[in-house]
Order: sequence, then C-alpha cells, then structure tokens
Amino acid sequence: MVGEAPAMAIFGATYAAVVGLCVGSFLNVVAHRLPRGESVVRPRSRCPGCGGRIAGRDNLPVLSFVLLGGRCRMCGARISWRYPAVEGASGLLWLIAWLAFGPTVDGLAAAVFSSLLLVLAVIDAAHFLLPDRLTYLTLGLGLTASFGVSWTTPLGSALGAAAGAAALLLLIGVWYLLRRVRAMGLGDVKMLAGVGAFLGLYGMLLTLFVACLFGAIFGLLLMVRGRLSWGSRLPFGVFLSLGAVVSLFFGPLLIAAYASLL
Ligand SMILES: [Zn+2]
Repeated sequence: MVGEAPAMAIFGATYAAVVGLCVGSFLNVVAHRLPRGESVVRPRSRCPGCGGRIAGRDNLPVLSFVLLGGRCRMCGARISWRYPAVEGASGLLWLIAWLAFGPTVDGLAAAVFSSLLLVLAVIDAAHFLLPDRLTYLTLGLGLTASFGVSWTTPLGSALGAAAGAAALLLLIGVWYLLRRVRAMGLGDVKMLAGVGAFLGLYGMLLTLFVACLFGAIFGLLLMVRGRLSWGSRLPFGVFLSLGAVVSLFFGPLLIAAYASLL
C-alpha cells in the first residue's frame, strides 16, 4: 500500500508523462506540416500512404503504433518509427520536467521549452531548417517566462537572447573569413537567441558549449566512418537542442561540478 503523498507523486508523474505523449503527437503534426507550409490545426491526420483519415483510436501516442505493428490499418503502409520516437521523447521530457520542478511555473516552462526544442530538432534533422515561426515563438515565450521562472530574470533573459544571437553571428563571420563558407544558417542564430531567452546568459553559454562538443564528437565519428567530409552540413539545431536540454535539466549540477574542480 502506498501512502497518500507517494500516491499523489506517482499520479502527478504519470499525468505529466501522458500529457507529454499527447503533446508529442501534436509535435509530429507540426514537424510534418510546418516545413510544407500546411496548417497545423486542420485537417485531421491522414496516412501518407493511402491518404485515408486516421481514426482517433489509431492516433493514440506510441500505443497505436505498437498495436498496429507499425502499419496503417487501411493500406498496410509502414509508419515511420519517428512518430512513436518523438511521442516517447516528449513524454520523457515532460516526466523529467515534472521530476525536476514539480507543478510549478518552472516545471511548465521547462516542459514547454523542451517540447519546442524537440520539434526544432526533428525539423532540422529532416529538412535542415529551423522555421521562423518556431524560433520566434521560442524567443517570445522565453522572454515572457523569464518573469516567472526561478533560474533567470527578465534582464538575464534579454541578455541571453542578445548574446546568443551575437555569439553565433560572430562564429558565422569568423568561419566565413577563414573558409569562405557559411557554417550555419540564420535559423541557428534565432534559435540560440530563443534558448538564451529561456535559460538566461549562463544557460545559453553552457548550451553553446555542449552543442559544439556534441557536434564535434558526432562530426568526428562520421568522418572516421568516411561519411563526412569538410564542407558537409550538419543540422546544428539538433545539437543546440541537445545542449539546451542538458543545460536546462543538468546545468546547475554541471556548473557545481566544474566549480568544485577549481
Ligand atoms: Zn494507409
């Protein structure tokens, strides 16, 4: 028999994860339609194989994919594993946000922010694109959230946004002078501005550091396997997303560990 407090905690965590799964289902719609210039609210989801309308009972996050064996009920076309993966990742991020912050402004901001990061990463990985509508939304929500969250202030948020944009513009400029190629797009600049708005100056700097580290490791791995040459493009938004999630949930831990080294 679990006591009342643990029971409430388990209920809360489950609830957060289920909301996250459903949000993930919507993120799939956004990731599929936004780059194609389609409306994200209408019409209802259709199978890309047969164009058939997907019934509500076949649209349950992760569960439907498993029950249907990864195939469309009507035509049997394979459904990409990306759909349940995004739903699962979203559920996990909302669960972590709950465990880290509980039912607070911090918790809600963390959950919404990590959902934005997830959909940006998915779109960038598929299309090498970070849509303005999402990066500006991140920036606007980040600046707004700074009035309520505990980890930054409105001033820190504005500084983080400005410094994030400036840092990447500088990086692009220096890289262009050295190699005559544009290292990344303006989408990355706007995205890091949004990350800075959510996390503040130090969170933004940690994000950039972790993103460059992950990007470099990934690039080297690809190079070792002969799948990457100088001049190949990497979707840097994916690494910015990873960096921002690490910074959001483990930033204070990492900074404390670093400080104890000194
Ligand atoms: Zn179908």
